[in-house]
Amino acid sequence: MRIAIISDVHANLEALEQVLRDSEKQGAEIIHFLGDAVGYGCNPDECVKLIGKHCDIKLLGNHDYVALGLESTESFNKAARDALSWTQNAIAEATVEALANFELEANYLDYHLVHATPQSPDKWQYLFDTNEAREQFEFFSQSICFIGHSHFPSIFVRDSDGAISMHMKSTIQCQPDRRYIINAGSVGQPRDKDNRACYVIIDTENNEIQFRRVTYDIDATQEKMRKARLPEFLIERLAAGV
Ligand code: ZN
Repeated sequence: MRIAIISDVHANLEALEQVLRDSEKQGAEIIHFLGDAVGYGCNPDECVKLIGKHCDIKLLGNHDYVALGLESTESFNKAARDALSWTQNAIAEATVEALANFELEANYLDYHLVHATPQSPDKWQYLFDTNEAREQFEFFSQSICFIGHSHFPSIFVRDSDGAISMHMKSTIQCQPDRRYIINAGSVGQPRDKDNRACYVIIDTENNEIQFRRVTYDIDATQEKMRKARLPEFLIERLAAGV
């Protein structure tokens, strides 16, 4: 069976549509979503609707949390704060109700799913290096934990002797004596200098995990964001992929 893991859509409808198309072409039967449906982009209602229609497990991210009024924007930078105020004004009541049903963490097969870290799903810590990843392996029992949040596709591996390493490969073959934390990257706002939408496909037959990169109409997204008067910084970073 093939399973798609998508994360950090951030109200980017054009990117989400292309990723859903690609996952269908790839034969994904199930799609799970790791959070941050809204924030930054200009189509929160459409994106939450599509995620609701296509995704099985649906998780909350920190931007969704703010949109739900569960947290303030204190820890956000100015552009993110401005985009979240925009989102709170623009978002439909039905979208807020749908988001309220998203979860903070979930388990599926031998996978743990969470937006930020397994240790504190609602504290929104970032995992960028092996030191930060090391202790997180103690907070889930499954073989693989899928995360999002940093928008940076990456793989942390824990060997049977406890050694932790970090990799950035497009495909990995998971080994039964190892455990993994895999960041699925971002659909709607990639930050690894590749402006294509990013997501992950798991093939459960051979335990292969593949990062997919999908082009979408960035110009169209940027044009809509400009019309919506979203911060220019957020518009320009889409083309740069940073
Ligand atoms: Zn995000």
